[in-house]
Amino acid sequence: MNYVTRQGGATVTILVPWDCGNFCPFCVNKKDYEHMETFSLDKIIESIGIMDEITPECDFVISGGEPLSDLVGLQRIIDAIPSTHRIFINTTIPVNTTTDKDALFSFVTRNKAKLTEINVSRHIEPYVIECEDEILKKLIDLGINIRVNCVLFDKFTKEQIYAFFDRMSNYVSKIQLRANYTNCTLENLYDLEADEIFCFLRENLGEYTSLGEYRMRCGYAFNYKNLKVEYHKTLPYSTIKEEGKNILYDIILRQTGLLTSDWNEYGVPLDVEAYRNVEFEVYK
Ligand code: SF4
Repeated sequence: MNYVTRQGGATVTILVPWDCGNFCPFCVNKKDYEHMETFSLDKIIESIGIMDEITPECDFVISGGEPLSDLVGLQRIIDAIPSTHRIFINTTIPVNTTTDKDALFSFVTRNKAKLTEINVSRHIEPYVIECEDEILKKLIDLGINIRVNCVLFDKFTKEQIYAFFDRMSNYVSKIQLRANYTNCTLENLYDLEADEIFCFLRENLGEYTSLGEYRMRCGYAFNYKNLKVEYHKTLPYSTIKEEGKNILYDIILRQTGLLTSDWNEYGVPLDVEAYRNVEFEVYK
């Protein structure tokens, strides 16, 4: 197996062994949490060590499930990742369900030097149990970079999206709108004229800058008042086969500790020994 990845190494997304209390219709991870018997934090930590050894500067994204619903376990994960890596956390901020607010503030204060950004899920439809918006502002005041992620799964009206922008602009400076990935293909990924969401944003928000068009993803940045509005598209898979090589930009560390090279149906196990000899290419 010949792997090729971007300089620095593929991003490693860790799916924590704790479920969330939500049922988002676009979720590709939820099914895994139906059977949690084989989940193992110790094995996840072992696999973090392997990935650190192979690519000591790759990015880690801690996702789930809900990373912030077990702060003791999450601390073990963060402690296992050396500070050569950037760390991102995807969360809903579950302070109205599983997590104590003050414990969360202490946790982020203690770890802020290692946390590159916390990405908070908020959608136009209330798919997730939300906390008060003031908590987002409080986290920013504590020195944490916060981005709001919003999946545009359903049709939306101009009024709805403007109301969402206005609401968020009171608390954060950056939001990322995300296309429903399951509709993205290699053929339509960069076809902006056929992309209804992109055309809506260009028509209503005007000027934009490209955040780059890479092999598997692309992004565009608009402005709305004091809010940076990014629009992000990516393929629903993370390996492209080309000329006998596996071009791999994302690795998924499953709740069992298994390293896989794709998202879908528990993925394809990563050939760790082959990945030790991965070739690096310019990020494209
Ligand atoms: S909060 Fe995240 S993990 Fe939970 S159902 Fe929604 S998308 Fe899936």
